[in-house]
Amino acid sequence: MKYYVLTLFPDMIRDGFQTSITGRAVEKGLLSLETVNIRDFSVNKHNRVDDYPYGGGAGMVMQAEPVYLACQSVISKLPRNPRVLYMSPQGQVFNQQMAGELAQEEELIFLCGHYEGIDERVLEEIVTDEVSIGDYVLTGGELPALVIMDAVSRLLDGVLHNDESAEFDSFHDNLLEYPQYSRPEQWRGKQVPPILLSGHHANVERWRREQSLLRTRERRPDLLERAALTKEDKKFLANLTDL
Ligand code: SAM
Repeated sequence: MKYYVLTLFPDMIRDGFQTSITGRAVEKGLLSLETVNIRDFSVNKHNRVDDYPYGGGAGMVMQAEPVYLACQSVISKLPRNPRVLYMSPQGQVFNQQMAGELAQEEELIFLCGHYEGIDERVLEEIVTDEVSIGDYVLTGGELPALVIMDAVSRLLDGVLHNDESAEFDSFHDNLLEYPQYSRPEQWRGKQVPPILLSGHHANVERWRREQSLLRTRERRPDLLERAALTKEDKKFLANLTDL
């Protein structure tokens, strides 16, 4: 996977991405990240890339041409036209399913807005997907781009070690993950659930599945409606008395 990020703050993207698991994946050559500073494509002698909004109103708007040129600088060297994701609070809300779809791509271009956003005309011209990370407004698209790149990267082969598998994570199969415990067995008077110490693999798996069902039912009943439930799962849920 190759990520290209069009941004006014390339350091923010590089610093955020090149640490921990994603940083390790870059070092191993499983991922690559190229940032493109939109300011390098300014068509203004003062290096500006924003201007006042037509029609008046607060704030500044990123101009179309520098964004267009920054994007073309990437597209012109690629063998095919990649998806161009504009980070926007007005976009489709990102979720695990979308992460899975994006993980199938070979390259992705992220476009990060700032100020009041970007001139609509260039968005119409280059953007294939408008993506939001939630119903709130941030100062820029850099954090959303990092969030999406992180969620997509951990689904790519080799990025997680076997012992960090994404298979049972929350949202896989529309269920939240079961609770996790580590050493010591007893912490401030709180005991690890005894079944996890039993060494009985099948019983542990069943307990985890039930915890997963319970959590999802309690915290995200909307997900449970879409979950792929076995007969045993349905029976377990039906037997819960406090529904
Ligand atoms: N005026 C715009 C509006 O009301 O839709 C908001 C602009 S916001 C202050 C500046 C930039 O931050 C946006 O262009 C976008 O790239 C990014 N951004 C802000 N909130 C976001 C969110 N929830 N998801 C994705 N990107 C967001």
